Amino acid sequence: MKFIYCPICGKQLIEKYSWDEGGVPYCPVDDIMYFDTPKPCIVVAVTKGKEILLLKQSYTFKNSKVLVSGYVTNGESVEDTVYREVKEETGITVGDIKYLGSEYLASKEIIMLTFRAVYIEGEINKSSEVDWVDWANIDDALCEMSEDEIGKRVVRKLLKEIKYKGKKAYRCDIETDCSDIIEEE
Ligand SMILES: [Zn+2]
Repeated sequence: MKFIYCPICGKQLIEKYSWDEGGVPYCPVDDIMYFDTPKPCIVVAVTKGKEILLLKQSYTFKNSKVLVSGYVTNGESVEDTVYREVKEETGITVGDIKYLGSEYLASKEIIMLTFRAVYIEGEINKSSEVDWVDWANIDDALCEMSEDEIGKRVVRKLLKEIKYKGKKAYRCDIETDCSDIIEEE
């Protein structure tokens, strides 16, 4: 977001030169520079054997399942966010959290930090902001996540990571070029 007014004192910001960044909106009263930064958000594919944790949240996508996601809170590491969001939304404990790269979502000015994590313990106990949550076969994930483009990219990275063999998981996936899929033996 490009700041025009100071969110603390309400005065119109002036431009201040900042090394490589060039002109940055600046409040001389509060002595703060307001950089045009995206909002950091995590999305995580949680696995348990050959299963993956999928959710339904009608306020995001009506007809599509999604992965666990959430905003990074100021004061925590992004790995803490992954652990916390999975716990809050589904009740389960995860470990072995591994970063899978980032995706920029221009329409919402969000930087999505993508992860995989492994189930450790706990029964599913969904929060009220989640309509449905359950384990699904990893073969069905891409088919069931039709509208969640970023989530599907995370699943594709996960399938590569776990060296998924065969084409079954990609049967509904128009984006994957089947020529680079590892053939079933
Ligand atoms: Zn100010």
